[in-house]
Amino acid sequence: MKQVWLLTAVLGLALMVPGVADSKKTSSGKSSSKTSKSVKPICPVTGEEAGTRYSSKWHDGKVYFAASAAKTQFGKTPDDFAQAANHQLVMTRQYAQHSCPMCSKAIRRSHQSSLRRVGVYFSSDECRRKFIDQSTDKKMSLAFSDKAFEEFFSTPEDAAKVLAKAAEKPQKTSSKKKSSSKSSSGKKK
Ligand SMILES: [Zn+2]
Repeated sequence: MKQVWLLTAVLGLALMVPGVADSKKTSSGKSSSKTSKSVKPICPVTGEEAGTRYSSKWHDGKVYFAASAAKTQFGKTPDDFAQAANHQLVMTRQYAQHSCPMCSKAIRRSHQSSLRRVGVYFSSDECRRKFIDQSTDKKMSLAFSDKAFEEFFSTPEDAAKVLAKAAEKPQKTSSKKKSSSKSSSGKKK
């Protein structure tokens, strides 16, 4: 729970000195203005397009807001906007999905749906169908509630690791009853 205090402290600090962190980053190089090159993040509070000027730490990333007031509001009641904030982390590619929101198995890129301009992936077409039958609110909760987010998403590096691991061992779960059918042909010592 120490993290919460840290986050609060960071938020408080950021609120006191708006803009300072941003301007420093711009001058120190990299490409902070390119953060939103193709997809404009959606402000989790107002639903408007968010620039990079107002942001707060969220999970291991940053969530962007349309205005200072939205950032303040988020700081007061982050739980009210958690789903939208999690969604934005994926939209801005700070987080990536590795597991299916319907069954927790590893995702396959071929089973995809779109939710508010973010691709959501599934383990199977069956899971995808179950998902797309839901209302948008329900979909947001299935994929982007804090609980779901922590279970199915992680930083892109970690997500890649999870998927690589899943690819190594192709579903061994249902092959436990090996004795019956193998006895006649599969003998070797
Ligand atoms: Zn699934």
